[in-house]
Amino acid sequence: MTITPICPKCGAPAVSVSQEVVERFSEDTPVPSGRWAACVSATCAVAYFCDRQQIATDDLTQRLWYKDKGMDVPVCYCSQLTREEIRRAVAQGAGTISEVQRMAQKNRMGFCSTENPLGLCCRDAFLWEINEAKHKNRGEP
Ligand SMILES: [Zn+2]
Repeated sequence: MTITPICPKCGAPAVSVSQEVVERFSEDTPVPSGRWAACVSATCAVAYFCDRQQIATDDLTQRLWYKDKGMDVPVCYCSQLTREEIRRAVAQGAGTISEVQRMAQKNRMGFCSTENPLGLCCRDAFLWEINEAKHKNRGEP
């Protein structure tokens, strides 16, 4: 049985992550060993937490796409492909991940388990951002 971790700051359900991922994103390393989780709530200032420590988004080496709406934030962390590059590629007619990767000339993938801030595949975020870009290009909110 797995227990969903709860963010101690905002109370939202969080995502379990490996210590390796936290070490990769934390400015202060090594981090204490423990059962780490990531708060994915967009407005919460806590990025990672375990029972002994909390790490704020300000104390990370990289920005998190789910907390930071900036255009220069990576969506695919394997190749540091940014939201802006996705928007631009979609504006030029790209509609799939591989088309965006080709236009941006960034196709490094498969390192998600350590390079993605949630230790998850970048694919879902990538698809979500492509969809967002399509709506934006059509002038929809
Ligand atoms: Zn939180």
